[in-house]
Amino acid sequence: MRQRKPLVVANWKMNGNSELVQQMSEALSVLKQPLPDILICPPVIFLADFPKHPNYKLGAQNLSEQLVGAFTGEISADMLCASGASSVIVGHSERRALYGEQDSVISQKVKVAIEAGLTPILCVGETLAQREEEKTLQVLARQLDAVYAAQPHLLAHSVVSYEPVWAIGTGRTATPEQAQQVHQFMRQHLAQYDAEAANELRIIYGGSVTAANCEALFAEADIDGALIGGASLKVADFSAICTMA
Ligand code: PGA
Repeated sequence: MRQRKPLVVANWKMNGNSELVQQMSEALSVLKQPLPDILICPPVIFLADFPKHPNYKLGAQNLSEQLVGAFTGEISADMLCASGASSVIVGHSERRALYGEQDSVISQKVKVAIEAGLTPILCVGETLAQREEEKTLQVLARQLDAVYAAQPHLLAHSVVSYEPVWAIGTGRTATPEQAQQVHQFMRQHLAQYDAEAANELRIIYGGSVTAANCEALFAEADIDGALIGGASLKVADFSAICTMA
């Protein structure tokens, strides 16, 4: 039996509306157990619209690395907790590429999230150019070390999501073998910081996951679930993915 409970995360990005909140919450509420842990990360403005239900939890897509103060447009970890979030996506490649988030800020965000009681879902992944230059494992090691080398105690409270940048929103998913190889590498790499926590760490995969390709990914030993973008906006597809995890 798999020792790590699967986790399926919906990352709505800057999509969705009140109707989708209602349709998604209704659909997830009628799914029969056993289910994976299901986490919905809508734009934060919708968090309060989700009815509470044991079949799913709520998360945010980003947080401030600051605790409080004059930071226009930012939202703190405490505010996310107060809005019903239990988790937060940190360092998504869109945040890294479009908003210039560096490893140092991402590291601080992971720390601030955990100290507030949120589970960070740390996103890491290589670009196509880095993969073609055979730098994938090196890039991932750097992104992981930036967070855990100086603060290894955070590992036991984290989730890591492997998201090859070339697979996000492109329809080009990593093969199960490619993803498994990376997940296994990351688990082994993180074991230097805390072997037990690395063994228990949920490492999920993100990048063009659909109802059609998720089962093969979930069958791999070190793939503990998925982070879903586009397909998480389709109620039937996302529900189907949840039942297959
Ligand atoms: P996608 O997004 O499923 O649309 O490729 C995944 C992600 O944002 O990680």
